Amino acid sequence: MWQAEAVVDLGAVAGNVAHLRGLTRAEVMAVVKADGYGHGAVPVARAALRGGATWLGVATLDEAYELRGAGIDAPMLAWLVTPGTPLAGAVRRDIDLSAATVGQLDEVADAGRREGRAARVHLKIDTGLGRGGATPQYWPDLVTAAAKAQADGAVEVVGTWSHLACADEPGHPSVDRQLAAFTDALAVAERAGLRPAYRHLANSAGLLSRPDTHFDLVRAGISTYGLSPIAGWPAAAALVPAMTLRARILVTKRVPAGQGVSYGLTYTTPRETTLAVVPLGYADGIPRAASNAGPVLVGGARHTIAGRVCMDQFVVDAGDDPVADGDVAVLFGPGTDGEPTADDWAAVLSTISYEVVSRIGPRARRVYVGAPDTDPAA
Ligand SMILES: *Cc1c(COP(=O)(O)O)cnc(C)c1O
Repeated sequence: MWQAEAVVDLGAVAGNVAHLRGLTRAEVMAVVKADGYGHGAVPVARAALRGGATWLGVATLDEAYELRGAGIDAPMLAWLVTPGTPLAGAVRRDIDLSAATVGQLDEVADAGRREGRAARVHLKIDTGLGRGGATPQYWPDLVTAAAKAQADGAVEVVGTWSHLACADEPGHPSVDRQLAAFTDALAVAERAGLRPAYRHLANSAGLLSRPDTHFDLVRAGISTYGLSPIAGWPAAAALVPAMTLRARILVTKRVPAGQGVSYGLTYTTPRETTLAVVPLGYADGIPRAASNAGPVLVGGARHTIAGRVCMDQFVVDAGDDPVADGDVAVLFGPGTDGEPTADDWAAVLSTISYEVVSRIGPRARRVYVGAPDTDPAA
């Protein structure tokens, strides 16, 4: 008997990637960091590859090792590695690494030398995001060092890359500036003798809205999961949200008007009504900020969380709708059966869908549907 679950439609993931592929001549890297944005990195990676992704992207080396450990041998880039982290295992497993400083490049090259093979590296440019990456001031030294390490056989410069700051705001002038800075940096790299096979800049928003940012490879994260980084964007309309979060109601009860609900008694029933207790809380990634605000499908209609979200549970005021112990409450899903979407939750919480899905914790068991191995009839 299940209590709370995140149902992940892997057919939707594969279909989303196939749709994204149709929008570009570039190859598609499915970004499966943070356990596949909470969906489960290994099953999502397999579904994305089935849909036509040819690369996988992760943040940390542990995430990359999990995928390799599951037997996934697609090209893979890990971009968030702390200085001093042993890299030989990454080189051995053909995991591409990113370098944004000469120091990082030296560590990658050392690992290549130790393993007796060229370590695959992507050089990262800061074109304006102001996060990782070498700014134009540092870039010439980085590409010079990389060209030398490549000539020595210690590294293979597979890619040059950068990340966009505001592509989710169509028309934002920073995108043009970043594109120009990227093009300039590629020219500097070329003068140093580097012509990497993969130049990559676009995230989902760039993929959906700016074909001139696609280059050789696009890094598709949120769109892989069927969510759009740009509200109402036409090219995203065909995406299908992959995750449905639901739980079985623990208990329902009729209460009179004036009943206080949950810690602090911040909600009081305005009339006689039915309360339904749902076994998900802030420890499961339902933000406490959703108190008296989060939308939930209960008893065939959308209702709102009543009172504070607790660590393990919250209460819904279901009015006079028919709802019984053990019924299913749906927090979000594709939105096709009247349930709220992750975007609805993001709007209520003043955040983005990325945060809503990626924070769902492990107590909501992951259930996979829509893949050949989960559904023998498919
Ligand atoms: C997370 C991430 C992406 C994916 O971004 P989306 O907006 O989810 O498509 C791409 N590139 C980098 C460097 C990232 O960290």
